[in-house]
Amino acid sequence: MRTQVGIVGAGPAGLVLAHLLRLEGVESVVLEARSREHVEHRVRAGVLEQGSVDLLTETGLADRLHREALVHHGIELRFAGRGHRIALSDLTGGRSITIYGQQEVVKDLIAARLTIGLPLLFEAEAVGLDGVGSDRPTIRFRHEGAGRELECDVIAGCDGFHGVCRDSVPDGVLSAFTREYPYGWLGILAAVAPSSDELIYSNHERGFSLHSLRSPELSRLYLQVAQEEDIGEWPDDRIWAELQVRLGLDGWTLHEGPILEKGVTGMRSFVIEPMQHGRLFLAGDAAHIVPPTGAKGMNLAIADVRILAEALVRWYRTGDPAGLDGYSEACLRRVWRAEHFSWWMTSMLHRAPDTDAFDRKLQLAQLEYVCTSEAAARSLAENYVGLAHV
Ligand SMILES: Cc1cc2nc3c(=O)[nH]c(=O)nc-3n(C[C@H](O)[C@H](O)[C@H](O)COP(=O)(O)OP(=O)(O)OC[C@H]3O[C@@H](n4cnc5c(N)ncnc54)[C@H](O)[C@@H]3O)c2cc1C
Repeated sequence: MRTQVGIVGAGPAGLVLAHLLRLEGVESVVLEARSREHVEHRVRAGVLEQGSVDLLTETGLADRLHREALVHHGIELRFAGRGHRIALSDLTGGRSITIYGQQEVVKDLIAARLTIGLPLLFEAEAVGLDGVGSDRPTIRFRHEGAGRELECDVIAGCDGFHGVCRDSVPDGVLSAFTREYPYGWLGILAAVAPSSDELIYSNHERGFSLHSLRSPELSRLYLQVAQEEDIGEWPDDRIWAELQVRLGLDGWTLHEGPILEKGVTGMRSFVIEPMQHGRLFLAGDAAHIVPPTGAKGMNLAIADVRILAEALVRWYRTGDPAGLDGYSEACLRRVWRAEHFSWWMTSMLHRAPDTDAFDRKLQLAQLEYVCTSEAAARSLAENYVGLAHV
């Protein structure tokens, strides 16, 4: 097989890239290790920045999103027995966030591609890349029980944190920057109407919790737990009891319902530099990870491939490689801004095992500042809805 851009991974990064390239007449083939059923039902992120929604809208992918998604103009920070609203839209000249599950974004992208019969192979696992330093790189993959090869002009490694593309770069080329956090998130999806119209981030002395949602019928809630927490230790009634304590506020009720899904995710910050080598370009979680507190992961993936698509189109149209040469530098400005914001939100809201009384006072002082200073609130708000100029 041969194509112009070989894309490994059908998550938000790979699928948005394929879509943007198609609109500009650049060919691609998407290889995805898992089944369509699996990727369309993988519950992960759910907060889209204004810029991500704008891109999906401008490129004709947001009809269902605009019918079904929920637009939010604020979030709540809850601590010391009080709730404080951060008025995102008022503080950012009308920008907002949109609640629409990542799996819904993925479903829309897959449908758009398959409807017009463009190549997207499921259960096609890339096992290695060859010749990324040459002008004919190749992806080796397994599909329908056989080993196959896809020859390309360029490879886009959109295969997430555990993919194979990043490991194909020779030793010594990439620098990795990492921060592990001594806690994880236990996340549930529950068949119950959300207890609040907006997201609630709660700093409690027993640990962080988050009230989020996916639709008027589905709530998504999280509890800070140990990094290697055994989910078996958390029967449903224990989860609800802990959420009731950590989110509890006089005059407010947390509604409980059947838990449809639960799982524990570790938290880490991770960036590799540069995000490219030869004809291989890494995008999304393949190149960087943020702790989910800032709701940035899916948005960064989309922001990367917007830059990559523009660079590829320019190269194919004019032969000018400047956009491709500057890809990594252009992405990393936004990536590091989001890394800082996600780390800052995480540090302000979680209770580390070695937190002492001094740390706790600092956290509360910072939260108080964000909730009483318009300048501090505006800084949080503009990062949360996504900085337009980075
Ligand atoms: C378990 C989990 C829970 C998360 N929860 C949240 C959350 O609650 N809130 C939040 O803001 N963010 C969350 N995130 C982060 C967010 O979902 C990611 O940042 C986002 O998915 C990044 O998109 P991506 O396309 O770069 O990578 P991915 O979505 O990971 O897509 C990569 C794709 O590549 C495929 N792939 C991997 N290896 C190969 C291979 N060898 N060959 C072919 N295909 C391959 C994978 O199957 C996958 O479909 C979560 C992430 C994870 C992993």
